[in-house]
Amino acid sequence: MSDILQMVKDKDPGQREFHQAVMEVMASIKPVMDRNPEYRAARILERLVEPERVILFRVPWVDDQGQVQVNRGFRIEMNSAIGPYKGGLRFHPSVNLGILKFLAFEQVFKNALTTLPMGGGKGGSDFDPKGKSDLEVMRFCQSFMAELFRHIGPDTDVPAGDIGVGAREIGYLFGMYKRLRNEFTGVLTGKSLNWGGSLIRPEATGYGSVYFAAEMLATRDETLEGKTCLVSGSGNVAQYTMEKLLDLGARPVTFSDSSGYIFDEAGIDRERLAHIMNLKNLRRGRVKEYVEKYPAAVYTESDPGQEFNPLWNHKADCAFPSATQNEINAVDAQHLVDNGVYVVSEGANMPTVPEGIDLFIENRLLYGPGKAANAGGVSVSGLEMTQNSMRLSWTREEVDNRLQMIMKSIHRTCLDAAEQYGTPGNYMNGANIAGFVKVVDAMIDQGVV
Ligand code: NAP
Repeated sequence: MSDILQMVKDKDPGQREFHQAVMEVMASIKPVMDRNPEYRAARILERLVEPERVILFRVPWVDDQGQVQVNRGFRIEMNSAIGPYKGGLRFHPSVNLGILKFLAFEQVFKNALTTLPMGGGKGGSDFDPKGKSDLEVMRFCQSFMAELFRHIGPDTDVPAGDIGVGAREIGYLFGMYKRLRNEFTGVLTGKSLNWGGSLIRPEATGYGSVYFAAEMLATRDETLEGKTCLVSGSGNVAQYTMEKLLDLGARPVTFSDSSGYIFDEAGIDRERLAHIMNLKNLRRGRVKEYVEKYPAAVYTESDPGQEFNPLWNHKADCAFPSATQNEINAVDAQHLVDNGVYVVSEGANMPTVPEGIDLFIENRLLYGPGKAANAGGVSVSGLEMTQNSMRLSWTREEVDNRLQMIMKSIHRTCLDAAEQYGTPGNYMNGANIAGFVKVVDAMIDQGVV
């Protein structure tokens, strides 16, 4: 297996996050490879780490001052063995090929776990929507879609949102696709409700990661009732994680953005959460403004030079990292363990560095890796595609029930696969193994393509 990792590093030396994602999967699937020599003969690993297609394009647009701006657009079509490519679009200045390849690679396994027929993809741009006017965002999205439209379609590749891509961006992208193709189809998910979106889609990733935590706790006959929870981020995933935690009687006490974090000892109740949603979604403000209304809360500015993130250094029971990759380093992970946190459910993709994951597993935490715990979002995207194909809309209860059933099924699948391959209770191995087996069996059935 180390030869595959070495090959990936030699081919694309700069793609650190992609190497990390491949390494995590390779470590888990060794026993599967040993039991199934036909996988090696089919060179399945070499095929799995190579995207089926990478699309890279120029995105020129004109800002409000009349200046021409140029960004880079990407779509990674990673694997279509079990369905059309499916995965979000990220607009953030940090976006590059390596980050999107890591996200697309993770997405392949995640989508396989959902029980729905979806392959894996990811895309985006180094465009930063922060501080841009609505018209600038619209012009950018239109230019982005003017190239992307020829590569996607409801049976080919169905993008969704991710960091920096919410309802506003999906609307502009969809409008341009419709104009160029002259067809109204389910080519994007995360659409608004009155033009093809699904109820519960905005909530799905956050709700799903809390459902996953509840399932993990149930294995120890516990619930989330009364649990103190650390949440990071303040975007889509973080907001609905906090909402579901409140529904289940837990007490979220933190949230953050890239500038700093809030610790609110009193607990973030419904009124406070409504204030955060208003601040972030309507006013597009920063989390530090929270203390203007709730002065007893404490705001701490991020310090890029600091060796740890103080958000993870509070007494608590559960942690829900919901911002971005590698936001929990080894020191943060040790702080979590020392502070009594024993449940980690990853709303974000790959938020914990490998040394941190090792610490969680050594200390027998209930650790739900992103590709399992945050699969609720893509699951409801899959349900949105189903509703679009049927040309009908399910009720809130119907979608939420299906989401809960899917999260239960993912949880069970992870536990069973972990047990079957000799690491009971290790959700990371379970998620990697179950996702891997489903995808590679489909690849073998379909021949060398
Ligand atoms: P979002 O609505 O754009 O919110 C992202 C949040 O994370 C913001 O608070 C942002 O702060 C913070 N953040 C982003 N980059 C950061 C960085 N480098 N350092 C510190 N904070 C940072 O995005 P989202 O949809 O909630 O996504 C959050 C995570 O969940 C990502 O890892 C994403 O891949 C994952 N995820 C999302 C979905 C989904 O359905 N949306 C599904 C599965 C997984 P600023 O405002 O300061 O940037």
